[in-house]
Amino acid sequence: MAVHTVATTTDSTVGASASSVDLGPAAALSCRECGHRVPLGPVFACEECFGPLEIAYDFSAHDTEELRRRIEAGPANIWRYAPLLPVPADVATKPNLNPGWTKLVQADNLARELGVDAGKLFVKDDSGNPTHSFKDRVVAQAIEAARAFGFTTLSCSSTGNLAGAVGAAAARAGFRSCVFIPHDLEQGKVVMAAVYGGELVGIEGNYDDVNRFCSELIGDPAGEGWGFVNVNLRPYYAEGSKTLAYEICEQLGWRLPDQIVIPIASGSQLTKIDKGLRELIELGLVEEKPYKIFGAQAEGCSPVSTAYKAGHDVVRPQKPDTIAKSLAIGNPADGPYVLDIARRTGGAVEDVDDEQIVEAIRLLARTEGIFAETAGGVTVGVTRKLLESGALDPSLSTVVLNTGDGLKTLDAVAGTGLTATIRPSLESFREAGLV
Ligand SMILES: *Cc1c(COP(=O)(O)O)cnc(C)c1O
Ligand SMILES: [Zn+2]
Repeated sequence: MAVHTVATTTDSTVGASASSVDLGPAAALSCRECGHRVPLGPVFACEECFGPLEIAYDFSAHDTEELRRRIEAGPANIWRYAPLLPVPADVATKPNLNPGWTKLVQADNLARELGVDAGKLFVKDDSGNPTHSFKDRVVAQAIEAARAFGFTTLSCSSTGNLAGAVGAAAARAGFRSCVFIPHDLEQGKVVMAAVYGGELVGIEGNYDDVNRFCSELIGDPAGEGWGFVNVNLRPYYAEGSKTLAYEICEQLGWRLPDQIVIPIASGSQLTKIDKGLRELIELGLVEEKPYKIFGAQAEGCSPVSTAYKAGHDVVRPQKPDTIAKSLAIGNPADGPYVLDIARRTGGAVEDVDDEQIVEAIRLLARTEGIFAETAGGVTVGVTRKLLESGALDPSLSTVVLNTGDGLKTLDAVAGTGLTATIRPSLESFREAGLV
């Protein structure tokens, strides 16, 4: 693979370390399994044990109150947290989509319906991002890594939302893009991914087939110079999900929530939200207290909740069959880590069927005016189920994630439409029985 490292240090002592890339506080990559460390680069698996690599930081220079002031004075997007992300300090001046700082909605109407105490239920609404899903957060990190490593083409394997996020970010930042999706995705996702002008390739198969294809492409000369945001740039990409944890806590007045309900596709988002919460505690930005993390899946693709309920540590792959296509990953890379986190924090992993997903989409829309995609139906549906079973405590503060926009998954609520069709006359209106 052709990798150009950009020397950005002005240090005159030229040596091996002077060729390091500038990704802010990111110091190295470290293996989540064995701790083996390697320099920052476009690699994702440990050469010793094949475990996943993640970013190791050097946060030692931070004074807590100075850091808090800097964050609060920062831009109203994810770059307010640049000192905690693998990005250069001047990231906000570069062309990107500036996602994040989405609304944390106090959902009192939904709370009433679900039997949660007033003032305790919140929806973190990530449909407000530039391409209407949480994926803009992770792509924004991957773009900075792609710049640092000299890639010119951006790519990904996607269940839909990621393809759109990569297409848009690449267009704005001046990269070529070529992204891969299962050929049978929702129309809204396909159009959204194609409109930004990059290449969009449908693969005859499900997401796991697409992902396998991309892994092959990375090892082939055809993929030379390509940055796959969720494969060879995955350690950087994944860190973007930490910004959800940062925003939620800051929006709660620098407090940890008691309970969080998070959707699971590969499980990356859930594991990095946990990482973000732990960082805030370690940095002293929030007061330490217990919090519980709950994972949400669709029954038709529930490898992690199945393993959780069976008490297993390993996740057996499934063949997805659900309307929640954005979460339809049958072989989730971070599945075992999700199980660890749910168990360590005292949370759980639960699933709901397609009918419950649709009911939950309607419930959220009718109570809070938020139109969620199917993934939001999954989290709201699972929240309801966990409240009924007693796993979620209705007296504690609870944040439910909506990670995407209902306009991209209109088929899920097909049949929703006109109350009546009338002639433009008062008589016809009265006949329709609406008064
Ligand atoms: C990708 C995605 C997720 C979560 O993905 P992970 O692979 O678990 O990080 C959640 N919701 C939506 C709408 C998504 O597109
Ligand atoms: Zn290792």
